[in-house]
Amino acid sequence: MEELYIFGGEKANVKEFPKWPQYNEEDESAILNVLHSCRWSYTYNYEKGKTKDLGYVERLENAISKRLCCKHVLAVSNCTNALEMAVKAIGIQPGDEVIVSSYSFISSATCVLSAGGIPVFADIDYDTWNFDIDSLLKCITENTRAIIPVHFGGQPCDMENICRIAKKFNLKIIEDAAQALGASFNDRMVGSIGDIGCFSMQSSKNLTCGEGGIIATNDDNYYNKVYSLHNLGRTIVGQWYDHESLGSNSRMTEFQAALACSQLSRLCVQEELRYKNAKYLDYLLGEIPGISVRKVMTGNVKPIYHLYCFRYMTDLWKGLSRKRFVMLLNSEGIPCVTGYKYPLYRYSIFNECFSSKGTNISHLCEISELTCREAVWLPNNVLLGDKAQMKAIQKAILKIYENLDKLTR
Ligand SMILES: *Cc1c(COP(=O)(O)O)cnc(C)c1O
Repeated sequence: MEELYIFGGEKANVKEFPKWPQYNEEDESAILNVLHSCRWSYTYNYEKGKTKDLGYVERLENAISKRLCCKHVLAVSNCTNALEMAVKAIGIQPGDEVIVSSYSFISSATCVLSAGGIPVFADIDYDTWNFDIDSLLKCITENTRAIIPVHFGGQPCDMENICRIAKKFNLKIIEDAAQALGASFNDRMVGSIGDIGCFSMQSSKNLTCGEGGIIATNDDNYYNKVYSLHNLGRTIVGQWYDHESLGSNSRMTEFQAALACSQLSRLCVQEELRYKNAKYLDYLLGEIPGISVRKVMTGNVKPIYHLYCFRYMTDLWKGLSRKRFVMLLNSEGIPCVTGYKYPLYRYSIFNECFSSKGTNISHLCEISELTCREAVWLPNNVLLGDKAQMKAIQKAILKIYENLDKLTR
């Protein structure tokens, strides 16, 4: 039996995992290019009219549009804003209900509030941690207007069923693909399948420029709307002081776009490595008692890995708490976290949604509740480690398991 690091043994993983975010000389020169050009913003050409040379914002939009095979792509300040604009663009009005995954980041649901809508929270599937289709169906009322599937951790939701339901009940779909750029479902890129898709380029995400968001849509009308919303009510053909509707400023800077463009050139290679490592981890961790790795849904589905997730079942670990398990893994040189604290509906900002509907939140989304208690997430940079480091993750977990008597005495 190997000794745990906290008892004087050697760490299971001695080599540091790659840091995140990462940069190289390409990124440096992209940012310096912008600096030296004095074209720091997308609006540089507004009064002078469009010039032939594309700025980085347009280059980024074109590159992502190509990658997603999606007609329109708009770069914006962040994904939270992107989601808010998407909700407004599809016409959500006060009182309209929008179905959201209860296991997600706050913005997936606050975007609905920002338009006066009511988020209605659906449970997730035990295996995939994405929308449970039965639960989703149960949330539909005569006031439902839209669905926001969250491709959590980079794994595609069951878009076939979600699209079928949306069609049947005449609902719009906004994909929260914040964590899922590059994932596909039935050979279509996620974020381009519903009416509007939103992506994040915040620091922790797999494609990042510090802060940033992307809106994707194949619909001309929605594109015109989000364009106006992100640019103070201007239209695409309008002049600087032509404000035809109510909008705000959610534009991306050239600095952000330049960094995103150069990061994008390395994304595919990184995704392949994350994918390979995730599959290897499925194999390495799959047989460990009391550990249940998250499953990708079957069929023609290609996830990308923003997070690698598994369930930790305290009962099968002699009651060793998840908090201690994670601390022990950290001490063995394995970065990991417990993830979302509780299902979204437990945040007090949503209280009013429930009192108006008279729902008792305590037994709403059982699997989501359970997942918040059991989840362990390995962040994206861990998946950029080498094969020996994946082995070390298994080793660290097994070491803790073998030392359970000592740890729980
Ligand atoms: C990161 C994230 C967001 C918000 O993105 P920002 O760019 O930080 O505003 C929204 N939804 C999900 C699921 C996310 O992970």
